[in-house]
Amino acid sequence: MLDQIRIILVGTTHTGNIGSVARAMKTMGLSQLYLVAPKELPDGQAYALSAGASDILANAKVFNTLQQAITDCPLVIGSSARSRTLSWPMLEPRECGIQAVLEAATHPVALVFGRESSGLSNDELQLCNYHVCIAANPEYSSLNLAMAVQIVCYEVRMAFLQQQVQPAIAEDEIAYPSNEQMLNFYQHLEQTLNDTGFIIKQHPGVVMTKLKRLFTRARPEEAEYNILRGILTSVQRFGRKAQGEKE
Ligand code: SAH
Repeated sequence: MLDQIRIILVGTTHTGNIGSVARAMKTMGLSQLYLVAPKELPDGQAYALSAGASDILANAKVFNTLQQAITDCPLVIGSSARSRTLSWPMLEPRECGIQAVLEAATHPVALVFGRESSGLSNDELQLCNYHVCIAANPEYSSLNLAMAVQIVCYEVRMAFLQQQVQPAIAEDEIAYPSNEQMLNFYQHLEQTLNDTGFIIKQHPGVVMTKLKRLFTRARPEEAEYNILRGILTSVQRFGRKAQGEKE
């Protein structure tokens, strides 16, 4: 079940950190490491710091963009040391562990960590369903990458162990759209709002960002997602018909 939970490192600069992350993961029973556009691929330094976790490095998958690494994931949690301009649904590390373990029973889950120098970009953070922040000294809140991974993976392990002794009461398993489906929905929404003239192409403003935040907060289930797509299709069809009648 823990194999459904992947750790994604975006734009890592120091290969040593990648090795330390592999070690942190293995101590907590996680094995799926995804690297997005690392400055360098795991080298001798990475293997040295991974200690006995070289298998995780050897099996790490490499992608060009975060989007490619999470297409199949209905739950993506981004780890960030600071809240950005746009507030987003937040989880404490403990809640993050519980949520990840709960959902890993039905679908893949991604836990995403940013660059040593600049963390995750706003665009990358907007691809996430939730953000997790480790409460640290407000005057010095940025942990070393591997240490942040260690803390989050520890919470995943605690939630996993808890579930072994006391399985969560079987709720109806909820199906959520994947990250790729949500991106298709946002594209469809933007296109429709362009067609109706609600969004003016030259002045797109922040409306799409605000709408993404709204739908992230609401987290539509698969059936609701299908209704939303259906509504957009009906609006477009209606627009085309009205256009045809005018001509
Ligand atoms: N200087 C960067 C922080 C980089 S630390 C910044 O200000 O954003 C590298 C990564 O470790 C971060 O992108 C984040 O994923 C994780 N991290 C470090 N400290 C964290 C904290 N307090 N809470 C959550 N994640 C943290």
